[in-house]
Amino acid sequence: MKHMTLDMPIVAECLANECAYNVNMNCHARAITVGNSLHAGCDTFLSGSVHTREATRTAGVGACKSAECKFNEDFECMADSIKVAPAGKEINCTTHSPR
Ligand code: SF4
Ligand code: SF4
Repeated sequence: MKHMTLDMPIVAECLANECAYNVNMNCHARAITVGNSLHAGCDTFLSGSVHTREATRTAGVGACKSAECKFNEDFECMADSIKVAPAGKEINCTTHSPR
């Protein structure tokens, strides 16, 4: 495996504990993708009872497709950190803010 050093916003909290990447209300994916043309949802969400064994890594925001958010620049998130939480049937970036 090759290693890359990237500056990314961190996922400071995620309340979607039903996601396979969630342990102790934190995301432990390497990086998540946020957004589609409809809302700023977490595209990396994976429903499942088995959770990742990696519980020390802090996830970053690898890409964000919510270009209407004020933190979005060139389809990337430029916030320092984001938070994610369920909202009805969706799991959204709660840091999202319209321009
Ligand atoms: S941020 Fe997304 S991928 Fe990470 S735990 Fe939450 S829902 Fe899952
Ligand atoms: S804060 Fe805005 S740009 Fe950053 S991930 Fe959330 S919706 Fe995307």
